[in-house]
Amino acid sequence: CNKFSHLVAEPLDPINLVIINFAKNTDPKKVMLGVGAYRNEELQPHIFNAVKEAEKRLIEDENATYEELPPEGHAEFNELVTELLLGKNNPAILENRVASVQCLGGTGSLRVGAEFIKENIKSEFIYFPDPTWPNHYNVFGFSGAEIKHYHYWNSELKGLDLEGFLRDLNEMPTGSIVLLHACAHNPTGVDPTQEDWERIIDVICQRDLMPYFDAPYIGFASGDFDRDTYAIKRCIERGLQFLISLSFGKNFGLYGDRIGSIHAICQDQETKEKVQCALGSITKSMFGSGSAHGARIVATILKDPELRENWLNELISVSQRMQNMRKLLYDELVRLEAPGNWLHIKTQIGMFCYTGLTPQQCENMIEKWHCFMLKNGRMAICGLNTKNVGYVAQAFRDSLN
Ligand code: PMP
Repeated sequence: CNKFSHLVAEPLDPINLVIINFAKNTDPKKVMLGVGAYRNEELQPHIFNAVKEAEKRLIEDENATYEELPPEGHAEFNELVTELLLGKNNPAILENRVASVQCLGGTGSLRVGAEFIKENIKSEFIYFPDPTWPNHYNVFGFSGAEIKHYHYWNSELKGLDLEGFLRDLNEMPTGSIVLLHACAHNPTGVDPTQEDWERIIDVICQRDLMPYFDAPYIGFASGDFDRDTYAIKRCIERGLQFLISLSFGKNFGLYGDRIGSIHAICQDQETKEKVQCALGSITKSMFGSGSAHGARIVATILKDPELRENWLNELISVSQRMQNMRKLLYDELVRLEAPGNWLHIKTQIGMFCYTGLTPQQCENMIEKWHCFMLKNGRMAICGLNTKNVGYVAQAFRDSLN
C-alpha cells in the first residue's frame, strides 16, 4: 500500500510560479522582475572580486582541510561578522556579551532563532510587519509563539504607516517578540527613518518587548554598514536584549553557500556563554554545523584590509546600481507622463519596490508586456538594466489604463 497517499500537494509559491512562467515564455523582450537574488547590469548573477580572490587563496592554502566545524561554527567568522555588524568598539562586544553562532543562510538562522524562542524564551506572541517575507510564516510556525501582525505599509502614502505601527506596539503584551527588518524591508522597500526608529524603540522599551532583527541586507541596502545597522545599534544603546539573524547571501553574493549567523545581545558575559551553548545545541541537533567553505570566504575577506576594502567598494557600486535603476525608472515614468506619483520608486530602498500596482495591472504587465513580477505589486529592482528600463516604463504606463 502507498504509505504516503495521505499527503496533499501544496500549491506552488508565487515566486516559483513567476520563475516557471518566465522560463516558459519565448518573447525576446521578456523581463524578469520577480526574482529575489541580485543581478548585475547584464542581468547575470554577480560574483564579487574579493570572493574570487578569497577562493583562490583558500585553494592555495596548504593547511586547509575539509574537517567539519563545531556546532557554533567557524570561530573567526563569528568574531569578524559580529564586529562587522556592530562595529569593533561596540560596548556589547567590549563587554563580551554577544553570543554568535554560524547558521545555514539567513533562513537557517531564523529557523534556529525560532527553535531558541520555543525552547528558551517561550514567548506567547510574535508580531510580524504587514506585509512581510512570506517564509517568515513557515519558519516561525516552529517557534511555539502565535503569529500576529503590526501595521507597516500605508498603501495611500506608499510608505510607512508609522502611527499604526506605534499604536500596535503600544498594545502588544509585555514580553512579546517583534520581528523587525533591520533595513531594506522585503517586500515593501520601505524603512523607518532614524527619527521613526527612535519612536519605535521608545515604545519597545516602555512595553518591555523583545526585538528580533531579520537582517539579510545589511550593507547591501545603502552601501553603508553604519546606516543599515542603525536600528540594531540604537537598541543596544537603549539597553535592550535581543536576537539578530544575518545572511551573507546578498552582501557577499554567497547565496548558494548558505552562509548566515545568529546573534544574541545578552545582559552580561555569563548569560552570553549560556545562550551561545543553547544556540550551539540547536544547530547540532538540526544540521550539525554550518558550511566551512562559506565561512572561510567571509573570514578571509574581512580580516584582510585590502580584500575588505575591495569588497566594500564593490558593495557600494552594487547598491548604487539599484539606486540608479530606481532613478531611471522614475525619470522614464515622468517623461511618459504616467499618471500618479512615482516618488516612492526612488525613496524605497534595497532589492524591491512595492509599486502599488493592483493585481489586474500586474496581470497586464505579465500577459501583455512579458514583465514578470509578483501580483502583489512587488518588483525586483535588479531585473532592470539600462537597456530594458524604458520598455518596463512603457509597460507600467500602459498597465495603468
Ligand atoms: N529574510 C528576508 C526578509 C529575506 O528576504 C531573505 C532572503 N530572501 C531571508 C531572510 C533569507 O536569506 P537566505 O537567502 O540567506 O536564506
